[in-house]
Amino acid sequence: MTTRLTDPSATRSRRGRTEDRPDRSDRPSRPQRPNGQWKVDGTAPLNHNEEFKQESDPLAVRERIEQTYAVEGFDSIPGDDLHGRFRWWGLYTQRKPGIDGGRTATLEPHELEDRYFMLRVRIDGGALSTEQLRVVAGISEEFGRGTADITDRQNIQLHWIEVENVPEIWRRLEAVGLQTTEACGDVPRVILGSPVAGIAKDELIDPTPVIETIQRRYIGDPSLANLPRKFKSAATGHPSLDVVHEINDVAFVGVEHPELGVGYDLWVGGGLSTNPRLGERLGAFVTAEQAPEVWHGVVQIFRDYGYRRLRNKARLKYLLADWGAEKFRDVLESEYLEYPLPDGPPAPVPSEPGDHVGVHEQKDGRFYVGVAPTVGRVSGEILRRVAELAEEHGSRRVRLTPFQKLLVLDVAGDRVDSLIAGLDELGLQARPSVFRRSTIACTGIEFCKLAIVETKVTAAEAIAELERRLADQAGLPPITLHVNGCPNSCARIQTADIGLKGQIVMNDDGEQVPGFQVHLGGGLAAPDREEGGLGRTVRGLKVTAADLPDYVERLVRRYADDREGAETFA
Ligand code: SF4
Repeated sequence: MTTRLTDPSATRSRRGRTEDRPDRSDRPSRPQRPNGQWKVDGTAPLNHNEEFKQESDPLAVRERIEQTYAVEGFDSIPGDDLHGRFRWWGLYTQRKPGIDGGRTATLEPHELEDRYFMLRVRIDGGALSTEQLRVVAGISEEFGRGTADITDRQNIQLHWIEVENVPEIWRRLEAVGLQTTEACGDVPRVILGSPVAGIAKDELIDPTPVIETIQRRYIGDPSLANLPRKFKSAATGHPSLDVVHEINDVAFVGVEHPELGVGYDLWVGGGLSTNPRLGERLGAFVTAEQAPEVWHGVVQIFRDYGYRRLRNKARLKYLLADWGAEKFRDVLESEYLEYPLPDGPPAPVPSEPGDHVGVHEQKDGRFYVGVAPTVGRVSGEILRRVAELAEEHGSRRVRLTPFQKLLVLDVAGDRVDSLIAGLDELGLQARPSVFRRSTIACTGIEFCKLAIVETKVTAAEAIAELERRLADQAGLPPITLHVNGCPNSCARIQTADIGLKGQIVMNDDGEQVPGFQVHLGGGLAAPDREEGGLGRTVRGLKVTAADLPDYVERLVRRYADDREGAETFA
């Protein structure tokens, strides 16, 4: 198991074996500080975040937004609503323009923040109708200055939103079955789902019913709206394992049980950020019918036993690191499900990338076309044109992927080329270069208050430059490049071949400039896998943003020259 977390009990036992230490066993042991586990320590809040969540149900802020803040404006919003509870409805204040990344750590959060919001529309499973896409596009154009980014969690993020317009935006979204409920905050976030659910020829099981049931039963449930931290979920039945399940708090991965048929392999406890950890299999087989209640059980364990004292130690991965998979499964079965789960097999190692770019035949004989918006950046206008193009080509369904890609489904074979040409005119390529295909970038300094460097434009410029310089390397397998604006890893630094963590670095002239710390050789590899694992920081290796194309070109050329056979970059 790849892990960077320290298991406190392991540390204690190592120390206990150290022979030259004096025997301290006769000293009175220091009382253990409570970790804020509700079922162990009680529910008294141990920090301000826990206080504001208990003071007032964060979901109830919606009423105040609709009745007060949207009427009286930005200045009427008190701090705990603005910086805390608004997130439960997908709203974050965005960064004030013009504040450079060197000042991110020195300013107070309110000094960094603008009077506008980022609004995250949750799109569970990444599944959208063309009608829904058109509504999001219209909101972007009317209320968001035309901005729209496809995120690596299958959401769409809009910017420049004013609080006065939020009720109307909700009205429009909800009229077509979309929502921003629990798109951010200490809640069950959007559920990643295979973008080819229900259509792929080689799909083992369609996770759509599981995702829809979880969404219908539990999203917006006040009993799950105060978790210790965010809670991420994923489900796939596709053999490419296309939902980065290893880095989610809970994940269901399609498998075939030799006696029980198809169902899911259960994973828990993955997460990245500053202490990355791949999830673990519990070794349990879950049927499609059981999956929603098993999901509920895992969320309740997190709510009841998760650590709440320190926010940077609150994700489920820390509890799993201390408990281990065996105890976790035992608590799940005995305290929450009240029935045992059978043992089950692991999913096979995927043999193809899971981004679904290109043209693929569906099980019904029609085709889906996967295109690569550059680092997920689109616009209201592009989304509206995609909806129109899809409909002109007989499709009413679109999917977003966890790789910031977009698919148009249900296209007849004789209409594929025309669709590809139309999408290409929008900058959405179905046959992109390895760099355009495999680069993702987080929001970065343009809008994010935590950012240290710019990401989207830097990555897009690097892609264009690498396409020009490395045109002779078009046959290389995908090399993933993930660009992050700070250490938080929203764009999954540690899972990329080349992961870039934004920071201020020194250039050759001794000046402090935007740049990146480099992680190399990352990937997603689970226990039972033969290779891979989270990327390693290359000690001391930093690159300025300006030198990024030079650096990547050198790496790629060396890889191309030295690789043997089908050797991957990792
Ligand atoms: Fe913001 Fe950092 Fe996340 Fe990028 S990685 S979106 S800069 S918090």
